[in-house]
Amino acid sequence: MKVPVIDCELCIGCGSCAELCPEVFEMRDEEGKAYVIAEDKCDVCDCEEAAGICPVEAITLEGE
Ligand code: SF4
Repeated sequence: MKVPVIDCELCIGCGSCAELCPEVFEMRDEEGKAYVIAEDKCDVCDCEEAAGICPVEAITLEGE
């Protein structure tokens, strides 16, 4: 199973991943960063597309 991982150092808080995959990514306003809230939900959204649209390539997919 592929698991999304966010490099918080790179994330600029654009919100695109959370807009595309709200089941998996969530914005935390207090920090202005995105977080993975359900790494096992890539089957209900397209984490690969989310990784592809991240402007700073902060999202990687790990695992099988
Ligand atoms: Fe951060 Fe990338 Fe998500 Fe934008 S798409 S909020 S830069 S992880």
